[in-house]
Amino acid sequence: MALWSVTLDTSAEPRFPDRCVVCAQPHPDDFLRVADRAWSWTVLFFPLLHFAQVRKSVEVPVCRDCRAVFRRQRWLRIAVLWGIFVAVAVVGIPLVQAWKANVAVLRSRTVQKLAILAAVVVFAVPLLLWEYIFPKHFDLDVGARTTDYDFRSPDYAGEFARLNNAEVQDL
Ligand SMILES: [Zn+2]
Repeated sequence: MALWSVTLDTSAEPRFPDRCVVCAQPHPDDFLRVADRAWSWTVLFFPLLHFAQVRKSVEVPVCRDCRAVFRRQRWLRIAVLWGIFVAVAVVGIPLVQAWKANVAVLRSRTVQKLAILAAVVVFAVPLLLWEYIFPKHFDLDVGARTTDYDFRSPDYAGEFARLNNAEVQDL
């Protein structure tokens, strides 16, 4: 399923339509705070640097019922992501170590790199499928200079873009 993306400066304060981002009902009675940090490859090697990256948080209008659904989806996603991460670390790393000790071919740098690539693909494919089957209603992708606001609804994205003098991109 396509997502509709609007790019604004990270420093800009976005204006949201006065409608629920999930069910599109006007005048929602609640909001949801969504935060994200800019991503940088250096974080892979120095995880603590994650907390030094640019952080952006926005208040997204939702009605009370949708808020619960939205939150549950978000936590489930984070739980799945961490589950995969831990599984890779717990199962994958000792396995590779054991193979390296026994199989000469795995001592080759190229083979090791290919194995890591294969592991990434094996774990990324279910994640991408998950994203496809359960697309988010709203997502925030913070960059150092610009931030993407992604919406499932093209109407909502269009309204958001108009309010912020920006354009909608079809992802
Ligand atoms: Zn709603």
